[in-house]
Amino acid sequence: MGLLALGTALDWPDVKKRAPQVREWGIKQLLEIWNKAKGKERDALLWGDEVEYLVVTYSEDDKRVLLSLRQAEILEALAEDKELKKKGGCVPDLQHVEQVAADKSNPIPVFHPEFGRFMLEATPGKPWGIGLKELLEVEPDMKLRRKIAKAHMLPTEYPITLTTFPRIGAPGQFTDPYYPASGPRLRSQFVPDEIANPHIRFPTLAANIRSRRGRKVEVNVPVFHDKDTPNPWKDPTVNYDLHNWPEDDDVRNGAAPDNFIHMDAMAFGMGSCCLQITFQAKNIVEGRQLYDQLSPLGPIMLALTAATPIYKGFLANTDVRWNQISRAVDCRTPEELGEKPLTDGARRIPKSRYASNSTYISTDSRLRKEYLDPDLVFDADIKQQLLNGGMDDRLATHFAHLFIRDPIVVFEEDLQELDLNKTDHFENIQSTNWQHMRFKPPPADNSIGWRVEFRPMEIQITDFENAAFTVFMVLVTRAILSFDLNFYVPIKRVDENMERAHAVDAVLKEKFYFRRNPFPSRPSRANTVMGDESHPGSAYPSRPATPSGPVEDEYDEMTVNDIINGTDNGDFPGLIPIVESYLDSINVDVSTRCQLATYLDLIGKRARGDLDTTARWIRNFVDTHPRYKHDSVVDDEVNHDLIGAVIAIGERESAGQNFAGLNIHGLSRLLNGFRGGCGGDGKASNGTYGHTNGNT
Ligand code: ADP
Ligand code: MG
Ligand code: MG
Ligand code: MG
Ligand code: MG
Ligand code: MG
Repeated sequence: MGLLALGTALDWPDVKKRAPQVREWGIKQLLEIWNKAKGKERDALLWGDEVEYLVVTYSEDDKRVLLSLRQAEILEALAEDKELKKKGGCVPDLQHVEQVAADKSNPIPVFHPEFGRFMLEATPGKPWGIGLKELLEVEPDMKLRRKIAKAHMLPTEYPITLTTFPRIGAPGQFTDPYYPASGPRLRSQFVPDEIANPHIRFPTLAANIRSRRGRKVEVNVPVFHDKDTPNPWKDPTVNYDLHNWPEDDDVRNGAAPDNFIHMDAMAFGMGSCCLQITFQAKNIVEGRQLYDQLSPLGPIMLALTAATPIYKGFLANTDVRWNQISRAVDCRTPEELGEKPLTDGARRIPKSRYASNSTYISTDSRLRKEYLDPDLVFDADIKQQLLNGGMDDRLATHFAHLFIRDPIVVFEEDLQELDLNKTDHFENIQSTNWQHMRFKPPPADNSIGWRVEFRPMEIQITDFENAAFTVFMVLVTRAILSFDLNFYVPIKRVDENMERAHAVDAVLKEKFYFRRNPFPSRPSRANTVMGDESHPGSAYPSRPATPSGPVEDEYDEMTVNDIINGTDNGDFPGLIPIVESYLDSINVDVSTRCQLATYLDLIGKRARGDLDTTARWIRNFVDTHPRYKHDSVVDDEVNHDLIGAVIAIGERESAGQNFAGLNIHGLSRLLNGFRGGCGGDGKASNGTYGHTNGNT
């Protein structure tokens, strides 16, 4: 989560007093970057992924799987491993990945702390470049990361890529070591304060969100009603008789409604793992274009990567993590939520600071006013300051929208003097606006370019899948730029899609608003001036005059299959066919094309329902487990076997072995047909699944 400043973290009442100063300084720093970097040109098309892991303590005999709280020790072991820095050969058992590490100039992967003390994050040692061949290095690099991580853990510890630990917060022990719940920072009934990274930033984040809200966060997920689930269902783990903290009244005041799994702490959300990708644009104009064009893809990719069907030991009636994280960090006051009349200059705020995007920011003339959020909340004074500083209306509106938030963690030491050679105050607000897209300005030293981060995807169990979704998004991005694609739909429709993406099996059962014709129509190339004239150095192609006609005619409701593979009637071409024509338009050698095809195949099949999402696979695993009583309860033993299966899949994968013979329910529905051979036509042939090392 970025660089961690040290110092005296202020409690909420003091943060509240200093918030205007943080915002003011943050805006000054932003204008400084803006003025320095707005004309930056020809930055390289770099990009990088982030993979997050849960660290579990697992053994075959002990039926209880635990979350290992040794993040700090593991990171320390990684940092102290001098051999590691020499890369290749140093970490035991590198086998097929060591060649990759040895023959590319990429340094060894980088490991980062995360909110959960049971989490790790790993990124490539340096960002990936424009080369298509680099796309083939992603999967080996992800495997290398997992191997390195594992090599610095205890024999019973494993890095796994499940979005959430199925029994986090369940009664009994679920952390290693054990700590009792209900500490002063989180005040959770279910999880101990020790579940969070002990660095002062993290417990302060949780405590100050709770304080600002005036009560604990309420993370209520609808329970999945199976045939023997009581109806109405009352969360049996909620304790109505606790009296440790004032917040223990929350459940007595109705925080835990019937038919919902009730959770009450940031760890239930920010303890989730995801897959993120950051793209550097050649200049700010291209960055703004990518931000807008990738935004409508967010909910689609969320639904397609669905992997989160269990919380606190119960099957949920949703498939993805998104809204749970949103609620887990929702710092809004009752006034802002509309539950109490407004006082004291407060304003209604329709969304949590973790939410789908509310702005489009591009200078693209195809961006119609009708696409923008009519209810957008922004700070008019801040917007004016940005306009006065030379920023254009659209981007000023975006940042003035992010800056409606208070900072949550503020260090006394940072408030002594404004340093315009830093971006700390800007980043304080920016990096605690967790939207599904993030527009990242260059750092103060201007050494890198304008970047866009794609944040909605759920992490997948194998590195093959994670590489597939990563590579797919990179190719989609290239196609967007190469074909000047237009995915605009009204931002409110993106919001609705985000909700729809939560439904169980949304990938097959839901429809999503999506633009019918993504190709640019260019009746005239004569226009030379863009919608927003304030952008210096724009090497951007000209665009036709602003389109007209009813906005509603531009989009339709489509299934994920329609969007990914194309509609039957050919109205919408499909993202995979678009990517294919992009690949056709450039020179790709047969073997690269074949490897890319194995990724596109996985995605196409998931969209079509030929293969299961991770969430569906997990549901079926639980459903067919002999111990499961069809009452929505995922007990320690079912959890043990699920995690055991995930570990077994991971071990086979990282050893470069076939999955054949692994007796895991539904595995062929998750991964079947991948990593067979490549035909001479550059198409993947679907042989036995799971072979990761023998492509010819
Ligand atoms: P954050 O947590 O703020 O998103 P991280 O540093 O964890 O940031 O991850 C950022 C990702 O961006 C990494 O994969 C990294 O390799 C990649 N990256 C670093 N520099 C660049 C760059 N100039 N352009 C694009 N991606 C970059
Ligand atoms: Mg992270
Ligand atoms: Mg990161
Ligand atoms: Mg981060
Ligand atoms: Mg990130
Ligand atoms: Mg519906």
